[in-house]
Order: sequence, then structure tokens, then C-alpha cells
Amino acid sequence: MFYLLKLFIQMKILFNKDDLNEALYNVKNLGFVPTMGSLHKGHISLIKKSKKICNKTIVSIFINPTQFNNKADFFRYPRNFKKDIKILKKLNVNFVFKPNKEQVYTSKKTKKIKLLKSQKILCAKYRKGHFEGVIEVMERLTKIIKPTKIFMGEKDFQQLYLVKKYIEKKYDSKVIPCKTIRDNNSIALSSRNLNLKKSQLIKAAKLTKELINFKKNLKIKKEIVKNIYQKKKELSQKYKVKIEYLELRNKINLGKSNNINNSNLFFAYYVNNIRLIDNI
Ligand code: AMP
Repeated sequence: MFYLLKLFIQMKILFNKDDLNEALYNVKNLGFVPTMGSLHKGHISLIKKSKKICNKTIVSIFINPTQFNNKADFFRYPRNFKKDIKILKKLNVNFVFKPNKEQVYTSKKTKKIKLLKSQKILCAKYRKGHFEGVIEVMERLTKIIKPTKIFMGEKDFQQLYLVKKYIEKKYDSKVIPCKTIRDNNSIALSSRNLNLKKSQLIKAAKLTKELINFKKNLKIKKEIVKNIYQKKKELSQKYKVKIEYLELRNKINLGKSNNINNSNLFFAYYVNNIRLIDNI
């Protein structure tokens, strides 16, 4: 009972910038975990990492409209605030920031964000304006929260790469990469998985497992690019899914790679109309 009471008293839920400024006054070594809610074990691993190496941890829950290049996708995005709060209380998080759109976007305009031509690859090629929206909201949240460290998942590798590059150049905050968490079927945990039926989840898991094995075997294969091209075709037909891209890229600069050292296989695909991404 006392324990529960303690958790309840400790976690502060903040809905606006004034309350946030007051709560964060004098907080040193603050860890920040930005999320769009519908929390799962992937998010939880980021939070645990922050709690381990920072004095205090703040988690934001904000479904950022400007990063959705498709309105239907924005409205369909799962929302589970009550459940999220229960999870965060259990984790003994110090602060939750749950702003509305005005709280984030009414302050001064930030400099217009433009990706370089060389960065318009993978998701940036297919989701016009998506990363510009992600970088803008990350810049706005960083200005408001002023965290020492920001924890982001490798599941969204290109997002992590672009945000890290942008934020660390302009602000004192350091972006900390965190490993992808998968379920027992190998599929990367994602809030979007909540929109999949069981049969669709099984399909996604089978496809992921095949790609994990395929990558293992790439070590001994020649003509890697041709092999990947063929695998993409084969899997699209076998599982009747649209694979938007399947590419081997270097983890350091996301350049195209024909060598599996330091490289990951990046893929995006649609199960029905739900878009999933992963890298292995
Ligand atoms: P989201 O709520 O989907 O915007 O994700 C918030 C943060 O959690 C991002 O930094 C994601 O990369 C990270 N994340 C999402 N899924 C996973 C996962 N399965 N493993 C690790 N991190 C994840």
C-alpha cells in the first residue's frame, strides 16, 4: 500500500510547458525518452536504460501530426494513454510530458529542416516530409525539455541516425542508441503491431525470420546486391506483401553496401495497408 502510494506521489504528469519548467527546475543529468505512446517492451527498454544512467527520467507521449505523410495513418495510430500511465508508474518514471499540439508548436518557428539529397533514401524516399517532421518535433521537444541524454531505438535506425546528427550538432543533448527489442517470433515490437490481426502478425514474423536467416547466409554469398533483389521478389510473391525496399546499408553513414561487415539489411513492407519497418 505504502509502496503504491509512493509511486503515485512520485510520478508527475505534465500537460504544459510552464508546469514542465517548474518541475524540471534544477534537475541535473536528465534522461529523455520521446514516444508516441501505446508503450511496449521496446519503449520500456529505453526507459530502463535512461533510469540506469540518468538521475531523473522524463517520457513524452505525443503523436506528432507533422511526421505523418498520410492522414488516415495519423487517425489510425493507436492511442492508449491510461494503459501507458500505468506502465510508467510501475517503472517509477519521474516525469511524463503529454502536451497537446499547441504546446509544442506555438513557440517560435524553428529553421526549416531540409534533408540532403544523399539522405533521401530508405523511408525518406517513400515518406515525403516524414523525417523533416520528426526532426522538427525533436528539436522543439529538446528546446523545451533540455535533456542531458535522449534515448532512441535502433528499430527506427534512419530516424535515430538523422536526429542524432541534427540534435548533437546544435544542442548539448547526447542521443543514445538502444537495441531493437523483438517478440518471441522475432518480429520487432512496434505500436503499429496493435493494428495487425493475428494472421498478419504471423505473416510479418515469418518474413522477418526468413530475412534474419537470409542475412546470416549473405556472409558466404557473392553478388550480394543481386541476391537481395531476388529475395525481395521471392518474398513479395510468397507472402503477397508489398516490399517497399530491401537494402543492405552501412550502419555508420547509411551508404549502400555490398559487404555485410558493419551493415544491416533495411526493409519496409506493407501487411494489408499497415506499413512496417525493421533492420537486421
Ligand atoms: P515510437 O513511440 O514508435 O515513436 O517510438 C519511440 C521510441 O521507441 C523510438 O526511439 C523508437 O525507435 C523506439 N522503439 C520503438 N520500437 C522499439 C523496439 N522494438 N525496440 C527498441 N526501441 C524501439
